[in-house]
Amino acid sequence: MAEKFEFYNSLTRKVEEFVPNEPGKVSMYTCGPTVYHYAHIGNIRTYIMQDVLIKALEYAGYDVKRVMNITDVGHLASDADTGEDKMLAGAKREHKSVMEIAKFYTDAFFKDFEAVGNKKPDVIEPATNCIPEFIHMIEVLLEKGYAYLAGGNVYFDTSKLDEYYVFSSAIEKEQLEVGVRDDVEEDSNKKNKTDFVLWFTKSKFEDQALKWDSPWGVGYPGWHIECSCISMKHLGDRLDIHCGGVDNMFPHHTNEIAQSESYLGHKWCGYWFHSNHLNDRAGKMSKSKGAVLTVSVLKEKGYDPLVYRFFCLQSHYRKPLEFSFDVLDNNVAVYNKLVKRVAELKGEGAVDEAVKAEFEKKFREAVCDDLNTSMAITVLYDALKADTNDATKLSLIESFDRVLSLDLIGHAKALSEGAEVDSELLEFINAKISERAEAKKAKDFATADAIRQELLDKGVEIKDTREGVKWQLI
Ligand SMILES: [Zn+2]
Repeated sequence: MAEKFEFYNSLTRKVEEFVPNEPGKVSMYTCGPTVYHYAHIGNIRTYIMQDVLIKALEYAGYDVKRVMNITDVGHLASDADTGEDKMLAGAKREHKSVMEIAKFYTDAFFKDFEAVGNKKPDVIEPATNCIPEFIHMIEVLLEKGYAYLAGGNVYFDTSKLDEYYVFSSAIEKEQLEVGVRDDVEEDSNKKNKTDFVLWFTKSKFEDQALKWDSPWGVGYPGWHIECSCISMKHLGDRLDIHCGGVDNMFPHHTNEIAQSESYLGHKWCGYWFHSNHLNDRAGKMSKSKGAVLTVSVLKEKGYDPLVYRFFCLQSHYRKPLEFSFDVLDNNVAVYNKLVKRVAELKGEGAVDEAVKAEFEKKFREAVCDDLNTSMAITVLYDALKADTNDATKLSLIESFDRVLSLDLIGHAKALSEGAEVDSELLEFINAKISERAEAKKAKDFATADAIRQELLDKGVEIKDTREGVKWQLI
């Protein structure tokens, strides 16, 4: 039986009790990256908070299935269908093919995504896999009278809807209407300013690398259609939770709802989860401001990616968060202190189940209350201070880490082992690890294996992991 879970629903603009379509089960969709460039740490903040949402739901007893798209076609420089295709621009910038760019940045994205402790989505679907599904949905929208052909493109007709600006208050609607009038490059094919492209055939770019045959001519899909189709393909006609950043609310999510509900003829998704921006001192973090600050760059600078996660968890997902290296340095100190406290726990005695249940309840209440992650961390500190034995404390930290994913116990173990190793042995281990890396690079696997054995003889076991070579004393 799942526990009561509440979070802020952007659609109703209030904190609501979550009631899924099927008891105990959650279908969740996440807008994935447009793989034309690196994801900066602000993008990664959004995915960390979504990861916490999933794990908090699981902690409360739900079974979550999550789907993410990879935008590898159709996303133009402006979310309102104008400007250059982002993928093409990336390919041109780096003198590579669009598919090479997509592969490179998809790999880079998931490397950073996982380094901060996020669980990979159950389904990851590139848009270019689903062209027949897009075409089908557009055909139905045309048949039902929600779409029209103009100048070779297919457009969604927003005037056919009773309500288009579903996420906005009356004042915000007015502002958005003005914004749409002012910002959007004139497209004389559109009947209404807010109409958007479902299928392009008359692209301004003659060298559009990716194009497909369709009933309306050779072309490519608009950006918004992919999320509706990919979600329905894997999660059916009624979606429980749709996630994204606040930037996605308009026009992207607004357009997703418009086309999905017109296609289905009923309500599509009941709960919308949006997390706020990461700012630096100059304002909102973005890719257009020169060098992109990524999780990999943080790692190169010597920061543990989990410290970045720790930093994100201490503020609420609905508030903008300001990043600076000073703040991150403070977080390094606090995180290391926390790891040290965990390393000091001895794990002796039996777990006191009553105490454990009491703290788990407090922790669950925090994360089930609109994802109060800073409160959840406070509960963790309270558990460390509690008048109970170390075994209970360790068991609680393990339990909380199912949601927090800060790997406190793993780091504590590494710290204790590091303390047992004298500097001479440490130097030897490091030298052997780099020697082995060289041997592997030269494809001299016999030498690499011999080095592994040499270390084993000294009681050191090495393991190749995604984050590099790790070792432990055996
Ligand atoms: Zn999307």
